[in-house]
Amino acid sequence: MVTNIAIKNSIGIDIGGTKIAAVLLDNASGKELFSYRTNTPKNYPDFLKSVIDVINKISLHASSDFYIGIGIPGLVFPNRQVLNYNNLPFIKPDFIFDLEKEIKHQVFISNDANCFAFSEYIDGSAKGYNSAFCLIIGTGVGGGIVINNRIISGPNAFTGEIGHTSIPFPTQEENNTPCTCGSKGCIESLLSGPALISQYEKVSGLSISSAEEIVIAANNKDITAQRVLNIFYDRLARCFLNFIYLFDPEVIVLGGGLSEISGIYTEVPKILTTYIDALTPTKKINLNIRKATHGSASGVRGAAWLWKTF
Ligand SMILES: [Zn+2]
Repeated sequence: MVTNIAIKNSIGIDIGGTKIAAVLLDNASGKELFSYRTNTPKNYPDFLKSVIDVINKISLHASSDFYIGIGIPGLVFPNRQVLNYNNLPFIKPDFIFDLEKEIKHQVFISNDANCFAFSEYIDGSAKGYNSAFCLIIGTGVGGGIVINNRIISGPNAFTGEIGHTSIPFPTQEENNTPCTCGSKGCIESLLSGPALISQYEKVSGLSISSAEEIVIAANNKDITAQRVLNIFYDRLARCFLNFIYLFDPEVIVLGGGLSEISGIYTEVPKILTTYIDALTPTKKINLNIRKATHGSASGVRGAAWLWKTF
């Protein structure tokens, strides 16, 4: 950690497909001092200008020098070059170098899912644990891993991107479920919000607009909704088995829209225990499954704290 006590503030910037969100944090308390949002321009010169403008606006409220961190969707390589192949394809690989040259200030950068994970690790639901897998289950499925204060990242920038890996012990139907990536049976094609909605619509023949409606229907004793949710819990438990066998995290923190489904936190641990019982002689699963503390603010907060991991 490159702590400098003379630096009392941190600026976090979360770059999204439609919005650039920014926040100024107090380094001692973690309190949000100022926040700002603007639309994401759709060409590189305007985009770079907009990020500089956001930093200038936020920095006016800082009481000292500050750290700057940016969370960005897509891949961030060890040499800090970026690659976004989805919603921001115009961003140049050298974005961070262009930015630093313009503002003459060091900038930390990481993938947005890593920022979510780090935010929860520093002062959210994973605080106090040594190892955490933080998973976003929303429109897509992806996550970040933090161990001993370090965001785990590799040469291909793919760490934590489990959405396009296969689910363990798949049924034939799961194996044949097409995914947006072109493959079949991916975790994202089975566990995302759109996947959950389409599963309910397919079985019930009804049209719905959100996963929340399935939860409400299940609470009102709709047997189809209850069955769909039970399958969702079972799939989530199998997904977690992957993390446990891979690096056995002390805590799994869930973010994204589907993390609001309260049954996850009561049902998934029970199902997980039955899988572990069947597979190992342990007979007990020592794992905490928790909902993210900072919700949609995790991206900006994690970006602001990036200096703590480098
Ligand atoms: Zn896929």
